[in-house]
Amino acid sequence: MDSYEVVVIGAGAAGLLAAAVAAERGRRTLLLEKNRRPGVKILMSGGTRCNITHATDKWGIVRAYRDQGDFLHSALAALGPADLVKLIEDEGVPTKVEETGKVFPVSNRATDVLDALVRRLVRSGAEVALDSPATAIERDGERFLVHLSPHALGERNVSRSETPTVAAAKLILTTGGQSYPGSGTTGDGYGWAAALGHMIVPPRPALVPLTSDAAWVHSISGVTIPDVAVALHWPNASKPLDQRRGSLLFTHFGLSGPVILDISRTVTAAAEPRSLALACDFLPDTRADQLDGQIRESCSRDGKKQIAAIVAPELPRRLVEQLIQLAGLPLELKAAELSKKGRADLVAALKSVRIPITGTRGFAKAEVTAGGIALDEIDSRTMQSKLVPSLYLAGEILDLDGPIGGYNFQAAFSTGYLAGMSV
Ligand SMILES: Cc1cc2nc3c(=O)[nH]c(=O)nc-3n(C[C@H](O)[C@H](O)[C@H](O)COP(=O)(O)OP(=O)(O)OC[C@H]3O[C@@H](n4cnc5c(N)ncnc54)[C@H](O)[C@@H]3O)c2cc1C
Repeated sequence: MDSYEVVVIGAGAAGLLAAAVAAERGRRTLLLEKNRRPGVKILMSGGTRCNITHATDKWGIVRAYRDQGDFLHSALAALGPADLVKLIEDEGVPTKVEETGKVFPVSNRATDVLDALVRRLVRSGAEVALDSPATAIERDGERFLVHLSPHALGERNVSRSETPTVAAAKLILTTGGQSYPGSGTTGDGYGWAAALGHMIVPPRPALVPLTSDAAWVHSISGVTIPDVAVALHWPNASKPLDQRRGSLLFTHFGLSGPVILDISRTVTAAAEPRSLALACDFLPDTRADQLDGQIRESCSRDGKKQIAAIVAPELPRRLVEQLIQLAGLPLELKAAELSKKGRADLVAALKSVRIPITGTRGFAKAEVTAGGIALDEIDSRTMQSKLVPSLYLAGEILDLDGPIGGYNFQAAFSTGYLAGMSV
């Protein structure tokens, strides 16, 4: 049986860096990946452009992670956003910052980012075994035995034994979460960590589109609003569970776009997501009384026009027509005929229409998994388990999920880097 100082399971963002850094530090390292190629999620990411990180400092990342942010201090001190950008650029891949603060490769090609990471990995001398799924982990005295599927290890599996096994003095689990399971992330690491005594915060989809049964929502599929303030409510509750602001997309099943993906983690955390509603303010920079005044003025100026032609011209007409009907007004209504009550109902529809939520598109369409290995059982200064000596965990397998904008890769790269520095 082959023996390594370090075995890393999962060649995603966290595992690629963890293995490279461990090998650079002279550790005999093996990186195992179940897919035929590493970094499949890197290739899919950011619409195949890979939003590597966000143009901010370590504090910006900590804040974006809200209650989970404190856990990231040491990892970000080891590899902050500027260090990550430098690491990619040092491999010959220039990056750019877009208006939203998202950092991408100048080439807009995720494959360039993956190639950069693979170049560093190859230089480090780490051994890599692709098409080699780990199937079980066993504690054997001080070391770990990692059992693999029969076809694993390729040429290395000289004995052609039924279940090849490798021994590891230190083990880094970077198997990711369980979203987009077709990409290889089927939550394998959770079971192993639980069997070794770790608490798993129940995994749930995050950064996932929301479903709604409101027919009017489906009817304007494809309409995008660049700036919407959304607030998630229980029925009849005035205080929101969560609120966000950003771009929203209407779809044939419900809602998507960055603001929806960001608020989705609160939907999946709710015991009864089916009874939630999303209040949408489509004109967040205009107060209700200002909007009322603007509509009154336009109506007196253009009394002969239909209201749909003069109300909120900055919004798409298809949305405005739906909101007019939701306000209980006929589409043919002329501006001069709009009553004070009708105007108030219209302002309410534009500023706070409530869209019923029936759920989410699930793990199949979630960019990230919320939940995972409980953070208080991990030493955040090293990524080592506090329960199992020589076991390290990094990346999305942890109970970490950030907003859209490159935060999730930053956390995966930083925690992977720190694990590699610590083994
Ligand atoms: C469509 C999509 C787009 C995204 N876009 C972005 C973006 O632009 N920016 C951003 O910051 N985040 C993005 N994300 C999120 C980001 O991809 C993840 O947060 C990140 O990949 C997590 O890194 P990781 O290394 O922890 O896990 P992963 O990258 O998921 O890697 C885990 C690896 O472990 C392997 N593995 C699992 N089980 C086994 C096993 N039993 N044996 C061997 N190998 C195993 C998997 O095959 C996989 O290669 C996106 C996600 C998706 C799904």
